[in-house]
Amino acid sequence: MSAVEQLRAIVGQRHVLVGEEAAPYLTDWRRTRTGRALAVVRPANTAETAAVVKFCADNVVPIVPQGGNTGQVAGATPDDSARAIVLHTGRMNRIRDIDVVNDTMVVEAGCVLQEVQAAARAAGRLFPLSLGAEGSCFIGGNLATNAGGTQVLSYGNARELVLGLEVVLPNGEIWDGLRHLRKDNTGFSLRDLFVGSEGTLGVITAAVLRLHPLPRAEHTALLALDSIDSATQVFERARSRFHSALTAFEIMSDACLALVAETFPQLRSPIKPGPEASARCYVLLEVAEHDGADDMGDVFAEFCAHAWDDGLLQDAVIATSTAQQTELWTLRESITLALASAGYCVKHDISLPISAIPGFVRQNSDQLASKFPEARLMVFGHLGDGNLHYNVLLPDSADPARESLETSIQRCVHDHVVGLGGSISAEQGIGGKRTSDLEKYKSPVELRLMRDIKRALDPMGIMNPGKLFT
Ligand code: FAD
Ligand code: ZN
Repeated sequence: MSAVEQLRAIVGQRHVLVGEEAAPYLTDWRRTRTGRALAVVRPANTAETAAVVKFCADNVVPIVPQGGNTGQVAGATPDDSARAIVLHTGRMNRIRDIDVVNDTMVVEAGCVLQEVQAAARAAGRLFPLSLGAEGSCFIGGNLATNAGGTQVLSYGNARELVLGLEVVLPNGEIWDGLRHLRKDNTGFSLRDLFVGSEGTLGVITAAVLRLHPLPRAEHTALLALDSIDSATQVFERARSRFHSALTAFEIMSDACLALVAETFPQLRSPIKPGPEASARCYVLLEVAEHDGADDMGDVFAEFCAHAWDDGLLQDAVIATSTAQQTELWTLRESITLALASAGYCVKHDISLPISAIPGFVRQNSDQLASKFPEARLMVFGHLGDGNLHYNVLLPDSADPARESLETSIQRCVHDHVVGLGGSISAEQGIGGKRTSDLEKYKSPVELRLMRDIKRALDPMGIMNPGKLFT
């Protein structure tokens, strides 16, 4: 029997895709890479996943795990050797259990994030992980990339939202680590090894997620400011005023909102960004109000009024309905989509100490402007987490020199970030696109430790080869 026939014997004829049917799974979200695969395999459950992985281990067939394929670093795209299978987790999409007393839910890896949020909400609980791709990304992909998003300030990254995991190991064995515990000091945290491992150590098949109380209300405002310096000052005040109730502090440059307005003219916006706007950047600020707390509406309005009186704001719009809140968030979440159709984008997902951000942006944008005059900066992100999506937009052209231009721009940004003690990947991971940067900037000791762990768990190197490690 051929490999494809053997895989069909495990998961069923219809769930091993080849040829045309496999094509949609072979290109990354940003359309920067297209690979080839032996087949796309869609197991229905953990046992089938284990049998597929065992078959691959026995036959040294590489495995590329894939969730919603919304990753920004081509981590779920196979190379062009056609040797690997893409293991798509979409059929493992059951919510297995919700325990409202323990504030946990057990979900399978292929659940769409939005469905996980909705199931928690239906049980009167909040699963706070929240990102622009939430209608398409899977919880397994979120955990494999340790996704961040817009609520990290208050609730942490994906890592902080998971208590236990079920993982199929590279030899096909199942590790049942579905613990519902907040305290467990019985040796190494194996769970943490798999969170953020980007499919290089095993296939996550299910997880125990940590839930939170649903806020009674959320207060949202869009603030216009003259600089990132003012934005960091407002952030400091907001954190002191609201503590952990401050759930989002997102920044968007004027250029980003102008691009959104140009790309999606149907979106309603209370502000007019663009050449005539005096603001340089905008902040989307959100505060949650929980049962037992005082009514925060007035406090929130007062906070904005004080910032205005102190000359930190140029304008402020406080949402007065859920529809208006959604409109403000839609503007923020449309930036990635607008950039996808706006030319060639050299993306950076950097983190820095928050205090270093204004100086970094000033100096780095001056450097980029003098070295690469054709480039346009599109900066947005999670200022409250010290995480910027620092994007450099180039005119769309098939210029063969573009690749070396991209490398030079990335060097200019990443050297500067690392020089200030920052990270070259805050939340999106390394995937297949940032491996050489990882090699360049991570310390030799850290790289050796990571390689030792990889070798110990996956001695044949079949899990997502070419990702994370060169
Ligand atoms: P995929 O893209 O399918 O895979 C990502 C990586 O995880 C790959 O290496 C893959 O091999 C591995 N993987 C997937 N599933 C498994 C599994 N079950 N077991 C083991 N490995 C697996 N990211 C953020 O962190 N914050 C944001 O704010 C954010 N905003 C975004 C906005 C938009 C509009 C888009 C398109 C993307 C955004 N992203 C963001 C990036 C992306 O959505 C996240 O990285 C997401 O967590 C990826 O989930 P996925 O299911 O699409 O994973
Ligand atoms: Zn982000």
